[in-house]
Order: sequence, then structure tokens, then C-alpha cells
Amino acid sequence: MFDSLIQFVRDFYRTSEFIPLHAPVFRGSERKFVVESIESTFVSSVGAFVERFEQQMVDYTGSPRAIATVNGTAALHVALQLAGVSSGDLVITQPLTFVATCNAIAYCGAEPVFVDVDRETLGLSPAALEAWLEEHAHVDGDGVCRLKDGSRVVRACLPMHTFGHPADLDGLLAICQRWSLALVEDAAESLGSLYKGRHTGTFGLLGILSFNGNKIITTGGGGMILAGEELGARAKHLTTTAKKPHPFEYVHDEIGYNYRLPNINAALGCAQMLQLDAFIDAKRALASRYAEFFSGSDIELIQEPVGCRSNYWLNAVVCEGREQRDALLKATNENGVMSRPIWQLMSHLPSFSHCRRGDLANSEWLEARVVNLPSSVPQEPLA
Ligand SMILES: *Cc1c(COP(=O)(O)O)cnc(C)c1O
Repeated sequence: MFDSLIQFVRDFYRTSEFIPLHAPVFRGSERKFVVESIESTFVSSVGAFVERFEQQMVDYTGSPRAIATVNGTAALHVALQLAGVSSGDLVITQPLTFVATCNAIAYCGAEPVFVDVDRETLGLSPAALEAWLEEHAHVDGDGVCRLKDGSRVVRACLPMHTFGHPADLDGLLAICQRWSLALVEDAAESLGSLYKGRHTGTFGLLGILSFNGNKIITTGGGGMILAGEELGARAKHLTTTAKKPHPFEYVHDEIGYNYRLPNINAALGCAQMLQLDAFIDAKRALASRYAEFFSGSDIELIQEPVGCRSNYWLNAVVCEGREQRDALLKATNENGVMSRPIWQLMSHLPSFSHCRRGDLANSEWLEARVVNLPSSVPQEPLA
């Protein structure tokens, strides 16, 4: 039954060998830039490629500031700290995400609250967010959102743009404003994805990107904080050991982090950025072929939400039920075509199973049905 899918993927990638879920493509100036970094001797915490990479990201996303970090999780840790998240706070997020989202909340000494996603976007549901807040929270006389018993502060809301599909940002922004919540976007998977023409990660107070090896572009490991001028300057300071500028003295005015992206990694990123639009075109072409392939079948490809342009970082299909999902996973993986189920819900992990949660019906429904299919940019440009 899945033979034709396996054949379809093999035809697309024109190979009879193992097909991974996502492999990076280096067919630009990667080697040249990395060699330049080595020859300059600036491979580590300072160097011209870091600034160039940050500028490329400012130009591409339209964010006033972009601060490169050692990975996306570190970017998220500092972004949450700058959004005011501190020990004992609650941060509302979705259970359907990669564990880094929740780990970063925990690094701040805060705790996630799990609110359901929408089935169409796979992102945090504005309706579910509002419902949870109305049932459990209020804004106190000082304009701080707290649990109704006054005990805990609900500081921030952290939606994630799942597989590159933008969440309903207008809806989320309006609710965050009404409830005095800082909106921080986990845009780790959505570099190149637009919501109503504007880049994801630039709607909230802060946003973050990831350049891990499996993301749409990679620096080996790396991340980026997107922010306005003031928070951007704070982010740069905090991620670079909080060192005050001085010609030779070491003066650190607070506890900072060594979260800098090394220059040699940024060199890779500069070369990858020059190919980003081509990567997105290739991914969108693959997605439309998948959509065609599955049309009229009982398996449905998740497509970009209305008014959005998705980067289609990872293609995802919704199966009829868990049985069909398992059969799809087995058939593809046994035949050298990699596929994976969507993450287990964060609310099921031992570290977060005690956390507060709303009704998670959509997340649970999706958890049992969603499978990711091979989504790499082909190593050779499409004919
Ligand atoms: C990749 C990813 C991150 C960050 O991952 P790093 O590997 O630390 O760069 C964060 N959130 C989500 C949803 C991700 O997919």
C-alpha cells in the first residue's frame, strides 16, 4: 500500500540508497568561507563572519537586530530571560514541540503551562490560550498576569512555528496584549516563513532561530535571537559574557553567558544564507508534489495556513489513525526511506508531566497521526 509512496520519494531524489529525513546541502561558498575563516586565524569567538551573518539575518528577516548564538536553545534561554521570565514564573507554550522549547523555560527556573494547538497550523491555538487564561488567570492591579489565587506570575507566551508553518500570530498577539504577556516566538524551524508577508520571529518581543544540522540552513550548530534595538543590545551583551567594551581590561558587569557563535560556524552560515531562497523554492516544489501525490487519498499533507508562506522545512502528513501511522512508519523505514512520528507531547515527558495544562485534544489527536517524510533539498538542483 505504501509502495507507491516509497517509489515517489525515490524518484524525487533519484536514488536507490537510504533517504534521510533531512540532510544539509553545501553547494555554495561554504568551503571558501570556512577556509577564509581558518586562514584569518579567527575561528572562534570574534571575527568578521559573525557580523556578516547577523547583518544577513537583519536584511532577510527585517528584524532590527539579530544576535548569533551557539545554538537555538541558548538563544531561547536568553530571549526568555530578556522577556522577564525568572524563577517561579509560568510560561504558556504548546505540548507539541521539540523538547528545547521546554528546556529553555526550565533553564530560567520557570515552568511551562501546556495549551493546545490548532489542527490547521500545528501552532499554539489563540482560542485555547484565551480559554486557559480565563479559567485560571487574572491581570492584577499592577498589570501583572497571575494565577487566580495570586500565587504565580504568568510571564510569557511561547508559540512554536511547527515544521515551518506559521502559528496564528494576530490572534496570539491580541491575547498577549490583553493579558500582559510577553510574546516570544520559537521560530527555530521557520526561517523563511512569512505570516501576512512578514517574517516569523519578528512579531513577538523576541524571536529565535536555529541553524542545527537538520534545519533549513545550518552552521553546524547555531542560533539567532531576533529583537528590537534595545533588547537586541542586551542580548548581545548577555550572550558575550557581559563584557564592557574596553581596549584591554576585563570588566563584566553582570552574569553573562558564553553563548557566542564561533566565527568558523558563522562562515558556514554566510554561505548558506546566500542559498536560502533557492532552498525554499526546492522545498516548496517538493511539498506541492507531495500534496499532489496524496490528493484523493486518506492521508493528508499539512499545507501552509491561509495568508502565510511556509518554508516547508519538514513535510508532515496526517494519517487516519495510529494503525495507519504505524504501518506507514514501518513500510518506509524498512525500505530505506526515513520517516518519523511527530514528537511525543511534552506533557508526557517525565520532566514536564507534572506541569499545568489545558485541554489537549488536538495535540493528542495529532500526536497519534502525524508523520514527517523526507524533506531535504535535493543535492543536485532540480532540472
Ligand atoms: C531545533 C529547535 C530548537 C533549537 O535547537 P538547537 O538544536 O539548540 O539549535 C528549538 N526549538 C525547536 C522547536 C526546534 O525545532
